[in-house]
Amino acid sequence: KPSDLSTLPPGVPEALEEEGVAELYPPQAAAVEAGVADGGSVVASVPTASGKTLIAELAMLSAVQHGGKALYIVPLRALASEKKTEFERWEEYGIDVGVSTGNYESDGEWLASRDIIVATSEKVDSLVRNGAAWVDDLTCVVADEVHLVDDSHRGPTLEVTLAKLRRVNPGLQVVALSATVGNADEVADWLDAELVESDWRPIDLKMGVHYGNAINFDDGSQREVPVERGEKQTEALVADALDERVEGQGGSSLVFVNSRRNAEGAAKRMAEVTSRRITGGEKADLRELAEEIRDVSDTDTSEDLARCIRKGAAFHHAGLASKHRSLVEDAFRDRLVKCICATPTLAAGVNTPARRVVVRDWKRYDGEFGGMAPLDTLEVHQMMGRAGRPGLDPYGEAVLLAKDRDTMDELFERYVWAEPEPVRSKLAAEPALRTHVLATVASGFATSREGLLDFLDRTLYASQTDDDARLAEVTDRVLEYLEVNDFLDREGGTLTATSIGHTVSRLYLDPMSAAEIVDGLEAAEAGRTSLRKSPAGRRPDAEAADAGEDDAATPEEAGFVTGSELADAAADEEEGGEITPLGLYHLVSRTPDMYQLYLKSGDKETYREEFYERENEFLGGAPSEFEDVAFEEWLSALKTARLLEDWASELDEDHITERYGVGPGDIRGKVETAEWLLGAAEQLSTELGLDSTVAIREAKKRVEYGVGEELLDLAGVRGLGRKRARRLYEAGIQSRADLREADKSVVLGALRGRRKTAERVLENVGRKDPSMDGVQKDASASAAAT
Ligand code: ADP
Repeated sequence: KPSDLSTLPPGVPEALEEEGVAELYPPQAAAVEAGVADGGSVVASVPTASGKTLIAELAMLSAVQHGGKALYIVPLRALASEKKTEFERWEEYGIDVGVSTGNYESDGEWLASRDIIVATSEKVDSLVRNGAAWVDDLTCVVADEVHLVDDSHRGPTLEVTLAKLRRVNPGLQVVALSATVGNADEVADWLDAELVESDWRPIDLKMGVHYGNAINFDDGSQREVPVERGEKQTEALVADALDERVEGQGGSSLVFVNSRRNAEGAAKRMAEVTSRRITGGEKADLRELAEEIRDVSDTDTSEDLARCIRKGAAFHHAGLASKHRSLVEDAFRDRLVKCICATPTLAAGVNTPARRVVVRDWKRYDGEFGGMAPLDTLEVHQMMGRAGRPGLDPYGEAVLLAKDRDTMDELFERYVWAEPEPVRSKLAAEPALRTHVLATVASGFATSREGLLDFLDRTLYASQTDDDARLAEVTDRVLEYLEVNDFLDREGGTLTATSIGHTVSRLYLDPMSAAEIVDGLEAAEAGRTSLRKSPAGRRPDAEAADAGEDDAATPEEAGFVTGSELADAAADEEEGGEITPLGLYHLVSRTPDMYQLYLKSGDKETYREEFYERENEFLGGAPSEFEDVAFEEWLSALKTARLLEDWASELDEDHITERYGVGPGDIRGKVETAEWLLGAAEQLSTELGLDSTVAIREAKKRVEYGVGEELLDLAGVRGLGRKRARRLYEAGIQSRADLREADKSVVLGALRGRRKTAERVLENVGRKDPSMDGVQKDASASAAAT
């Protein structure tokens, strides 16, 4: 019982009981047995929705009660604020909660006063690199979804971060929460933690496969769900769950599909199923919710979502705005929305149980695999685990779909009977080590090759491998790369980061991104003063060939130019040489830190043409068309750069989503990444004494505000936004200075009569008398601005 837990802050056990936690779930009780509320390290490997969060809370609240400080590491940024909100209910018991999001390099000192801090592993890694002092005060760290150490992109960061935190703080309590995996014991060994392993669930789960006219469940039972002519299996299953009343209530469904487009398409179809099954009262509520959805943003996605919602269905994927996502999740939990069609992100971490889960797609496109690859058992189990709402359903049902008997057998084998895969460290991959080796040296965790290997020995990778030689081998390759690019010095066996190396590590850049940026900027500089000679000999072929010159020019050499050459260079300016925003957007888009947009069919031709049209704007040597892979990557980066350029030219979100086939959330994502990388480029440029700093700063501001050059001053006013800034500009108010002096009726007219907004904006721009009382809007201003 919660009240038996004497280590919690006073009042907390009672509050838990009030929330409905009358008794601890068995895995929670086992974790307490294992000492989780007394500072003991625990790995809890239990099914989805079995109360892992409470295990973490018991550990963190006890730690804080004993004068400590806790850190909760989330796997996705989208989950950070959700967890923070969840933990904030403890504030009334004197627990301060903080969340650390935002830019990597932003300073996290204010977090020193918080008792519980929520952050992603990347953010924690960055805070450690930047020497946040409070890291030393941590007594408890929780790693949520620790099985993601298996993820080749993000796993290594979690792994290294845990190793660093444990190194800084030898007595640290580590609580690792995991889905059920094949080798939780290895994870526990690595973390020197007690293992709590269980397949207990608060509500029974029946897994099965729908084939023909029935679901065949793992317990041997069947449920008839006939599929009518012209109907899809999924439609029949969603309808069936809604038609089966339990205590007067139909059951909701979660449908998992493999892409965003499929989620949207499926939601449209399911909306026809749900709309026939909602009551009059629900209709009114759904209409209201649809309006809220539309208010979030003015995009096609928003409109599509609102239309589905009106009928009682929704889609959910990472391309949605976070406000959209939370509205959908809440309405689903409130049983207003009857069906969500989602990509697997929803299965990870968001608490949205349904009576029935339909895993419609069990294959997904995988580039490395070269086609459609089956999902991991672990991932499918996580989706299935969302079935069954405790207290509402007699049991949860998770259903896969088969069109023939063989597929049914395969699905039983692969997902119903199968054990989840073991987790395997991905640390020994070169891109991961590149980043982490530099950071480990830069932040002083290792000063020699041996020290480095000794540090890496504390990782899961080391504990899982028998082949120490491999890690050493990759490490040596990485050290060499870092040395060649001047990020590290290796003198007399002592490893030190160079000044640039420190900067790169602090900025949280992949060293390869930094090298690409530095090369590009230096090439641009050399190009401008040397009639576009090739850059520093790194990728000499393409440019040297077209410039008809050899590839000897380094920036230094390029400095030795004669007066007449300089004049020629100036004359040449029209043709190229000026650093343009597109050039910079392309430069950052081709680094490994930017997820580039895919080239769809037809795109290759489009961007190939753009490539030749704007050839002079690229910074650094482009690959030749014959280098297939490199050329295509260059074009993907160009597509990404064009999106950023469109955004920075005030193109409507709607047009952008349509032109590039992305969601509004993706635009946000690209813009934020570009801001970060351009900020990093600006610092590198300054540090290297290059001329590009001003151009970079401007390009960065333009993506940040999403505006043309002439709006930069105005758009920086807090609370204004790019559309309103444009209307003010059209009405003749072109700068902050103008705005401070402007006729209020013109301002009000341009802001379409919104008094509150106008007052706020005037206040933010520092106007002494922002009040709009008695001001009439100038109709010509609003006309001029439309
Ligand atoms: P997981 O993180 O394992 O997926 P959660 O921590 O989100 O699962 O828990 C799922 C739900 O169970 C939550 O709504 C939580 O409030 C509830 N819950 C957790 N522990 C208990 C308990 N001991 N008694 C009743 N409800 C609980």
